[in-house]
Amino acid sequence: MTRLSFPLAELLGGSRLTLRHRLLVSAAALLVGSAALAQDTDFSKVQIETIPLAPNLYMLMGSGGNMVVSTGKDGSVLVDTEYAPLNAKIRAAIKAAGGTDVKFVVNTHWHGDHTGGNEPFGKAGAVIVAHNNVRVRMSTEQFMAAFNNKIPPSPAAALPTVTFPTRTTFHWNGNTVNVVHVENAHTDGDSFVQFANLNVIHTGDTYMKDQYPFIDRSSLGSIDGFIASAEKVLARSDANTKIVPGHGALATRADFQRFHDMLVGVRANLKKLVDEGKTEDEVVAAKPTAAFDDFWGKGFMTPENFTRFAYQSLKP
Ligand SMILES: [Zn+2]
Repeated sequence: MTRLSFPLAELLGGSRLTLRHRLLVSAAALLVGSAALAQDTDFSKVQIETIPLAPNLYMLMGSGGNMVVSTGKDGSVLVDTEYAPLNAKIRAAIKAAGGTDVKFVVNTHWHGDHTGGNEPFGKAGAVIVAHNNVRVRMSTEQFMAAFNNKIPPSPAAALPTVTFPTRTTFHWNGNTVNVVHVENAHTDGDSFVQFANLNVIHTGDTYMKDQYPFIDRSSLGSIDGFIASAEKVLARSDANTKIVPGHGALATRADFQRFHDMLVGVRANLKKLVDEGKTEDEVVAAKPTAAFDDFWGKGFMTPENFTRFAYQSLKP
């Protein structure tokens, strides 16, 4: 998900929108309820909730993408940053958890609800680390077709200054922290972050708990990338792994396995329709997600929009 910088009411009333955009906007409207629309969020009311994951490792939940912070003698490493107006509250939460200055920020992908808080950490001296394409997309204006929205380039201090093509590893606070790029899933710059010896994985938005994921086609996301990513996370986890989704509550491997199985099931149904030469609208009418909608279809991404984006990423 991303920060949307236009007034929603204007978009809903926009006469130039196609029917498809109107359908997508109705999905965006659901975001309001989850406080993910930054301009509709009163940051003064946001509280940062701290959930212990392991010794010196915490999940932080405020407004926007979930964060994880590692604290200890080497300083703090923060995964994702939510929004800049929450900086003081995020720092306070890290301090309350026993942490000191943030030395490194790791971004799971470029979307504004995960990188919007980078700038104040960068200005304070944190080194920001992410996949190559996170810097590329944050450096240039982006257009998100799903929301008919332009996103301006980020300020210089918000940009990753250390980037990597496939993976990197931190040896920090006694932990081995693997940051692993997965290709073309939610975007073309996703990474998951594995705290290997603490058995915790932050998936970024390659997983949103108990809801259909957002395949950001404008950032070259795909359902096959989601499945490949999920298989990598499963391969690095066991029954006791704590999985921090990009959005939603802390998950177990069993929760995540169910997500993987849903993706594989939907993909099989979609592929059959694609092979039959069905158009996008015909595929939507065939309801390839029907068996999964009761559980997964009540979140930000409606069954129809999930089907459209998944279809677009599969069609020849
Ligand atoms: Zn996202």
